[in-house]
Amino acid sequence: MLTAENVEVSFGGVRAVAGVSINLEDEEVVGLVGPNGSGKTTFLNALSGIVKASGSMRIDGKLVPFGRPRQVWRAGVARVFQAPQTFLEGLSVIDNVLLSSDQLSMRGLIGSTVGRVPMWKHERNRWREAMTVLEIAGLADVAEAPADSLTYGHQRMLELCRALAGNPRVLLLDEPSAGLNDAETAELGRLLQELRHRRIAMLLIDHKIDFVDTLCDRVVVLDLGQVIAEGVGEQVWRDPLVMSAYLGVTADAAD
Ligand code: ADP
Ligand code: MG
Repeated sequence: MLTAENVEVSFGGVRAVAGVSINLEDEEVVGLVGPNGSGKTTFLNALSGIVKASGSMRIDGKLVPFGRPRQVWRAGVARVFQAPQTFLEGLSVIDNVLLSSDQLSMRGLIGSTVGRVPMWKHERNRWREAMTVLEIAGLADVAEAPADSLTYGHQRMLELCRALAGNPRVLLLDEPSAGLNDAETAELGRLLQELRHRRIAMLLIDHKIDFVDTLCDRVVVLDLGQVIAEGVGEQVWRDPLVMSAYLGVTADAAD
């Protein structure tokens, strides 16, 4: 579904990502872990086209150049950011989702037959799809509430809903559980499991090991911008290289 080869990103003289290759199969959920500063976010930025990178990437077999976020997005890959993006003031929850799907629906519009579908029908379908996404995320009850009135946990869920608005086949998630309490983390886990059952492939960065283990088919570990281990969770966590790289983080995170 998504193959990236030998991805490199440098900031000045620093190689933040130093030749990372990754392969995400259809419907596969892969965890991306590693100490702070190991290049996880930068790697996701490269895949989503928002930083300059070298190497190559294919989505569904097709070459997609780096640095072209819209092209990545149109190819069905959506990104969820580490911090909630600012929502438009006063805009309702569902309007926030509709606004995100608006740009994405271009894909459907261009691909299908624009003129033949009456606009109102198109809008109604978009609304229905947005409502479905909110229902899956447990936000249907607050669909008409102003987005900025939501709790932090719900705002993060809304962020995910916005990414889901255009029916992506791949989600790139950067620490979706950051800042969530236990109940909210469990709720997020439930949503991601649901997406998994709906066959959305995911590349998931997270610091919570249990969370990653429960959700992911396998785990890739970065350190200093390079892959130092990959495989199923229990194997990877026992790897001495991973232990020495990763233990520093759990100490830092003081969990
Ligand atoms: P992680 O997400 O694993 O914590 P990052 O990808 O954020 O790591 O950072 C990797 C490295 O790249 C770090 O050394 C960080 O300081 C550096 N870095 C990240 N973004 C920038 C930037 N915009 N400019 C300069 N250096 C950056
Ligand atoms: Mg990061």
